[in-house]
Amino acid sequence: MSQVEMTAREQAIQADFAKRMDETELLNCMQCGFCLPHCPTYLETGYQEAHSPRGRIALMKAVHDGLIAPDEEVKRSLDLCLGCRACEPVCPAGVNYGHMLEEARDIFEDHSIHSAGVKTVRKTVFEGLFPHQNRMEKAMSLVGFYQRSGLQHITRKIGFMKLFPESMQAMERAMPNVLPQKERKAHKRVYEAEQAPVATVAFFKGCLMDTMFYETNKNTIMLLQKAGCRIVVPDSQGCCGALHGHSGEKAKAQEMARKNIDAFEDSGADFIISNAGGCGAFLQDYSHLLSKDRDYAERAADFTAKMKDISQILVEVGFHERVPLKLASQRITYQDSCHLRNVMKTASAPRQLLQAIEGVELIEMEKADSCCGSAGIYNIIESEMSMQILDRKMEHTKATEATTVVTANPGCLLQMKLGIEREGLQQKMEAVHIVDLLAEAVQ
Ligand code: SF4
Ligand code: SF4
Repeated sequence: MSQVEMTAREQAIQADFAKRMDETELLNCMQCGFCLPHCPTYLETGYQEAHSPRGRIALMKAVHDGLIAPDEEVKRSLDLCLGCRACEPVCPAGVNYGHMLEEARDIFEDHSIHSAGVKTVRKTVFEGLFPHQNRMEKAMSLVGFYQRSGLQHITRKIGFMKLFPESMQAMERAMPNVLPQKERKAHKRVYEAEQAPVATVAFFKGCLMDTMFYETNKNTIMLLQKAGCRIVVPDSQGCCGALHGHSGEKAKAQEMARKNIDAFEDSGADFIISNAGGCGAFLQDYSHLLSKDRDYAERAADFTAKMKDISQILVEVGFHERVPLKLASQRITYQDSCHLRNVMKTASAPRQLLQAIEGVELIEMEKADSCCGSAGIYNIIESEMSMQILDRKMEHTKATEATTVVTANPGCLLQMKLGIEREGLQQKMEAVHIVDLLAEAVQ
């Protein structure tokens, strides 16, 4: 029985916390506080414990034990978390914070009462759009049409975009030009290596990557071919489900994970490759997501074991040692994708690749390992905090005097483009995906 007064809804949430949250994980946190200086929201809120990893775990534990009500303050604390998981690698107790956060958000979502408008938006995004690649393609074609038809020019001229929040206005300006659908050709099922193959890899093409960043996907295949990989692109693959998993839509994320496991199982590939840090980390977490699924747990573990980021595989097969890479003399800096670094544990491979490009001087920015504030749709729903974090990131970026900011995730890429736009640095600085920079450097 609850030890504190709660509404019926809060009691139901509390009961789910008691049933579903992993108590061992909650108890693993020894409240040492090593994670605090690495948490962007703790720092940006002026050291508020409720907005730190330690504070959030304490709140989850207190709700689990029925000591506090899962009220709006608890929800606010969880909502403001970026899910960047910067708290995990520095934790001496190895606390799996990200898993707890996803479960807690899913519980809150199960009991949420959304307005009709929010319900419609969530249904459209989570059920109507992302799980269907053909609809994603149509949606992106509309964006492309908006950009090319002159509509974008008109809306900007008449100030229509001023009706939207400032962050969305800047995002609209920073968005890359989307290729017309006829130029975004369907991928072949198999691409042969340029030499005797050293590995067969299955390519996870992603939903946003294969529409808005189609050129990056084409370049990824080209780099893999040059690296001596035979590439299989399974047809029936779909969105990774990260957006769903991070937004309290666990059942939908599991459904998408099962679909991808089915799609990649018969590829015969040694590795599964992603070129988007956020997707790659979520794909690598399938073993956790489906750990209680009798039919899929083992298959999910096999899938997870094969996951690699494009940078990792390129370094492993010695691409940068065999293929000459050269660019016009320039200073670059690298912004880590949180999930690539903190979940996939990939930080040195992209740097090794960048250092192998002749003409490039790689300058580390201060706190390159700290979140840029993109975090899926966080920059839209928590715009104020996101922009605060981005502005801090841009201070560090500018201090490097780099002309190119390299990223390895579409969300980070858009966010850094937005940062450049907000600072009015478009003439001096550009943000690029590491794959596109390497493709340009291939001799
Ligand atoms: S570092 Fe780990 S154990 Fe220490 S407070 Fe943070 S989450 Fe808890
Ligand atoms: S995931 Fe990021 S924002 Fe959330 S508690 Fe951990 S470090 Fe802080």
